[in-house]
Amino acid sequence: MSEEKTEKTSKIDLNRNDMPRQSPEVRRHNFSEVALGYTEEIAVTEAKRCLQCKKPRCKTGCPVEIDIPDFISFIVKRDFASGIKKLKEKNCLPAVCGRVCPQETQCESQCILGNKKAEIAIGRLERFLADWEAKQGVVDLPPKAKPTGKKVAVIGSGPAGITVAGDLILLGHEVTIFEALHKAGGVLTYGIPEFRLPKAIVAREVDYVRKLGVEVFTDYVVGKTRSIDELLTEFDAVFVGTGAGLPWFMDIPGENLNGVYSANEYLTRMNLMQGYRFPMSSTPVKKHVRVAVVGGGNVAMDSARTALRMGADDVRIVYRRSHAELPARAEEAENAEEEGVIFNLLTLPINYIGDENGWLKEVECVKMELGEPDASGRRSPVEIPNSNFRMPMDAVVCAIGNSPNPLVPSTTPGLQTTRKGTLVADPETGKTTKDRVWAGGDIVTGAATVILAMGAGRKAARSMHEYLTGTA
Ligand code: FAD
Repeated sequence: MSEEKTEKTSKIDLNRNDMPRQSPEVRRHNFSEVALGYTEEIAVTEAKRCLQCKKPRCKTGCPVEIDIPDFISFIVKRDFASGIKKLKEKNCLPAVCGRVCPQETQCESQCILGNKKAEIAIGRLERFLADWEAKQGVVDLPPKAKPTGKKVAVIGSGPAGITVAGDLILLGHEVTIFEALHKAGGVLTYGIPEFRLPKAIVAREVDYVRKLGVEVFTDYVVGKTRSIDELLTEFDAVFVGTGAGLPWFMDIPGENLNGVYSANEYLTRMNLMQGYRFPMSSTPVKKHVRVAVVGGGNVAMDSARTALRMGADDVRIVYRRSHAELPARAEEAENAEEEGVIFNLLTLPINYIGDENGWLKEVECVKMELGEPDASGRRSPVEIPNSNFRMPMDAVVCAIGNSPNPLVPSTTPGLQTTRKGTLVADPETGKTTKDRVWAGGDIVTGAATVILAMGAGRKAARSMHEYLTGTA
């Protein structure tokens, strides 16, 4: 190795900075945020580790192409105002993405320091800037283009809808969001728990698009209150961002017993309806002692950790593959394990057994082993004959996946769907099979991620703008 190279390598700081967190013993008993965020000093130290690569691979790993080295360079200079401005050029939800994006498979997975297992903590730095801005109490509103006189309806206020609305209002169009629930934010509000994404943060991000001038109607179910065809008589274009909120069940005996929930219901009761605060909130949630959560993704981890916080003694993740195949973010699976969630891996429930009053009392499972890779590239689970066993449980939360609610497609002639119930839309523009209607996010991809929904929203906004201004 040349002297010059040795000198350069020795300057590289390979110590990724940890983020302070509540200790597992404390946090498993409260709903406050687990990760506490970088202090200014830690953020600057972490930012200084960035090599400012000439060809930054991290940027190519980000679905919305944030100028990552640029915003990090502002943190090094302690110019946080410019840092957040740079970040917001590409991402209108930085406080959310800094908390929930799967950075380990996106931007951070591309970081050159990943070769030394010391990738820059890009998500934590993003979160630091967003939280810094919030603490200042003033939010810089970007300039808006001259009004175009065109009107856009956005259906759904999740990350896809918010991104489309934020982008189009800045381009001079009049934008109205129609949301079915009584609070805006989509899964960020009703699905992801307070201890991972405080609701005040989501409210702040929604408030930002409101401040830009977007009008938000809640309790407005498109397909019931008004159809898309009716909206098209008033609006020049419509964006459908209704997500994938229809829960799957396994279709096994006993799923109708009391104590068997879909993760969707369980988390909505807790997050949107604030069930954990009962009797201060009006929606009670039963306190179960032994809870099995079926599935291995983020939704399963969120449900299991919520059950712990509700006072359950024995909370288990029941997943049919092994630890290596868990689809959840690595950090969230680790958090769950630290808090005391037990992982019953290579295990599949086949039967829920109830007591004489119709309440769940046992879960019958079989053991699995991994066979050949399936279409997803993952080794498929195969049942081990005669491996049945029973676990005493008083609740099961089924978190095996979701698909889109069929209401909008079934009430909109001309809107084509796939076999899976997702909307057919051009991946580059979001254009659907119906004139003047675009779509993006989970309604098109099936259940995916926040940042992918935002990326789809951005592409659709660009295409809608071209159409609305006649530049397509
Ligand atoms: P959504 O967020 O689902 O928003 C759709 C909105 O449309 C909802 O508010 C819904 O009420 C509304 N709507 C539906 N039908 C109608 C109608 N007919 N009329 C009016 N409004 C309607 N992703 C990550 O990146 N990281 C994570 O850590 C993560 N954790 C997750 C945890 C949970 C519990 C869940 C459920 C999902 C998680 N995800 C995570 C996935 C992520 O939240 C979604 O991919 C993302 O929210 C999809 O955004 P969207 O805008 O397409 O839809």
